[in-house]
Formats: sequence, structure tokens, C-alpha cells
Amino acid sequence: MADRVQADVEFLADDLLEGRGAGERGHEVAALYVASQFRSLGMQPAGENGSWYQRVPFRRATHEGSPRLELISGATREALSVGSDAAVRPSITERERRIEAPMVFVGWGITDGRYRFDDYRGLDLKGKIAVAFSGTPKGLPSEVAAHLSQQKDEFAAAAGAIGLIEIDPGSDSPAGTVRGASRPRVTDWVDAKGRTGNTAAGLRFRAGVSEATTQRMFAGAAQSLARIRAEAAGGRHPKGFALKPRFALQDKMKWEEFTSPAVLGLLPGTDPKLRSETVILMGHLDHLGIDPDAKPGEDAIYNGALDNAAGIATMLEAGRAFVRSGKPPKRSVLFIAHTAEELGLLGASYWASNPTVPLRQVAGAVNLDMPVPLYDFTEVVAFGADHSTVARAVADAAKTMGLGVGPDPMPEQGIFTRSDHYPLVMKGVPSVLLFTGHANGGKEVWARFFEEAYHQVDDDLKQPIRWTALARYGELNYRIARTLADAPQRPRWIKGSYFADLVAPGEPRAER
Ligand SMILES: [Zn+2]
Repeated sequence: MADRVQADVEFLADDLLEGRGAGERGHEVAALYVASQFRSLGMQPAGENGSWYQRVPFRRATHEGSPRLELISGATREALSVGSDAAVRPSITERERRIEAPMVFVGWGITDGRYRFDDYRGLDLKGKIAVAFSGTPKGLPSEVAAHLSQQKDEFAAAAGAIGLIEIDPGSDSPAGTVRGASRPRVTDWVDAKGRTGNTAAGLRFRAGVSEATTQRMFAGAAQSLARIRAEAAGGRHPKGFALKPRFALQDKMKWEEFTSPAVLGLLPGTDPKLRSETVILMGHLDHLGIDPDAKPGEDAIYNGALDNAAGIATMLEAGRAFVRSGKPPKRSVLFIAHTAEELGLLGASYWASNPTVPLRQVAGAVNLDMPVPLYDFTEVVAFGADHSTVARAVADAAKTMGLGVGPDPMPEQGIFTRSDHYPLVMKGVPSVLLFTGHANGGKEVWARFFEEAYHQVDDDLKQPIRWTALARYGELNYRIARTLADAPQRPRWIKGSYFADLVAPGEPRAER
């Protein structure tokens, strides 16, 4: 068992696979490897057109020349210095933009029924630019805060805004929100229907501004910046109002189109009643590729041995365990090796918008992203445990191996919204993300991994990987998938969960 997961990781994390960047040759080779493993296990191809693959169409946008950004007050046009006064992200929906529009301050820029946030209420944003504080008001659970932060473009677009400029809720950073908006390139998928992944339909741009620019935007405003900031700092929602200056933007894009595959294999269920339902075991196969800025002689390859060759290896191991058991699952089990997770959960979000099985029939999903088998883990963590009973299957399976289930070790990080299961959750699929837990030395090992190797070239095969621990994790993943596949009842959302109410209103609930 240890030999098999070791073989998978050693292949996938080899320098020859060049860091498995989405759209790069190394990732294509990795995808072929996974497809070949699926075939050898007797799985059915479950991609598009009878193949093992779902090929995701991507677009990468960069600026051609420098954007021109201006603040306009009356007859005065004031050019903003790009990169220091303001920054705008390249567009994947328009090759060339010429925009000039009024700005409206919209507080935090959040709309949410559960918390009764309605920052756009009473404001006319049609064809205008929303100016919102970055982040979220104090006091929200971290997962909710992370979710709402990520949805701000959608909220602005839904209100009719054509652009979103974020401003810093505090005044002590001269750079303001410029850095967050200074992305040299933006990648997103664009599907056959013209839909996009992380780009909100109708929102034409997103920009950040420095503290000095923010001050200028609020010159002569109905309320002072100091006052609305004080309200925000107190956890309140300052009411919006129109700003005096207008904002103008002119830029040109270079686009590069490419594709990258997800790999999908199916073990068909055999129970006459349950086999139409599907349980998903998934992980991302891609990593960061090759560092284009590495100096000659330096290691330039992001091998991603733990992130996420190790997760894929344990997913394959779970598949092997199903076959070895000689007992097919009752529900169908779909294995997915996603692409472009590292570019913003893009492969999984594409699948969630272009699913290869009807989403209603997906009973639940377990996402395997970055186990850290550098110690003998004795517990696992299921992010999303408060939201659905998928986590109860995790706990049941763990118990059969003498493993415990630990609490979220880093609640401040909002991890639940930061990996590939999240786009599925947004479509109503009960899902969890698994990590190895903090017990038995895990805390120190995780801290060191984040410090020294995570998203660095050192996440490679030189790490002291305990192959027996990784094999054990593979066995656990099998038992979790088996539990979910064979349970009489499919997982349910948990009563009172924020995400349950958001994505699955009216569906049956489990008691907390
Ligand atoms: Zn990862």
C-alpha cells in the first residue's frame, strides 16, 4: 500500500512533470497518468463525449500597455499613476475598455438575507461604479466572512454596477487596496455559452486605490471618510451616497486562450435504488508549474508533492481499495482530478457550472487537498463539518481505523471557502475538505510546512514523507467514500447552517 501511493507521488511530483501547471505539458502528462490508472482499475470514462476528460477552456488576460485611469471633477481630469495611485485588473470579457461613470459609495457592498445586510438598498447603481470597503464587518464567522468577501463582485453586478472599486476601511496604509488589484494577469474559464467563472457577469472592471486617491474620491462628499470609517470600525454598516468625482478607465488587453483537462472516472453503483446517485471523491491535479522568474541554476519547479500529488495518490488508492474489496459500491462513485485549482478553483467551478452528472443526483463530495503526511496523524479535520452530514460519514469511517476527528485548527483562515469543494457547495452539493489534523505533532508539522514549503519549490520529494501515513490516509478516504456510497440515506444539510440556508433552502435538514 505504501509502495503504491509512493509510486504515484514520485511520478506526479517528479521534475519531469514540470510542476503540473494548468495548460502546461506537465499537467497533460499527469492527466494521462491518472486516466491510465483509472482505466487499469476498470473504471468507466466519465468525462465528455465518452472520454476520460473534461477539457476546460481558459482565457488569460494581460494588459497591453499601461491602463489610463483618471478622476474627473467638473472640468478637471486628473491622471492617476498606475500601480501607486490606483490599479485595475485586466479583463477577460472585453479586449478594450473605455469607461467613464459616476461613483457611489456602498458601504461594505454586501447583500445577505441571513445577516440582513442590504448595503445597496435605496442606491441607484445602474451604469455606475460601486465604491466599497474591502473585507467584511467585524464579528462574522470566518467562513461567512470569507464567502461574502468573495461574492462582492456579484453583489455589485446584481445592483447594476459596471465597476467595483475597493477602498481600505482603515487609513493607515498609504498603498490602500492597490496591491490587491495589481494583478499582472487574470485567468478565468469562458464556456460555450459565454459564461465565466470568477468574473461576475456585467461587472466590467474591478480596481483598487491608494489612501491619497481615496481621500480625493471623497472630496466634497455628503459624509466624511473619517466618519464612515469610524462607523465601519464599530462593526456598523455606513449608508451609501453618491460621490462627487467621476472615474474614467481606458485599457487594452492581450488574451491567450488555452485548455486544460479534468480527469473523471466512474465506479458505477449497483443498488437498483441508489445507483442513480453519485458520491464524488476529488482532488486537484494541477500545481504552480515552473517559476518564470527563477535565476539560472535555481530550482524553478513547483513540484507540489503534497499540494496535491499526495491527495491524488490517496484518491487513486481509494479507487484501488474499492476494486480490491470485490464489492462494488451501492451509489456510483465519481473520481475527479480537477485542473486549475491554483488559478482560483477554476476547474471545479467549471465542472459545477458544466456538470457531467446532474447536480441533483450528487449525494455529496469529499475534497482531498494537501494531506501533510510528514507525521503519523491520529486525527483528521473535515472543513464544513457544521454544514452537512458528510462530516459524520468522515467521523464514522475514521473511527473504524481508530482515528479521531479534530476541530478546525485555523478558523481564522476560512479554509472552507478556499478549495475545490466550495464551487460545488455553492451549487447545493453537501461537501467537505479533508486535512490531516493537529494532534500527535501535527500542529508543529503544519506550521513548518506552511512556513517552509507551501506554494514554494520546496514542496517536493525531499520532504520526509511518511508513506505508511499517506497509505493510511488513502485507506481512510476509501472508507469515507464507501460509507457515503452505501449509506441508506444520502447526506443532508444541517439545520441552522448558514451555507445550507444559502444554497439549499427548503431541503430536508439533519439535526445539529
Ligand atoms: Zn491544493
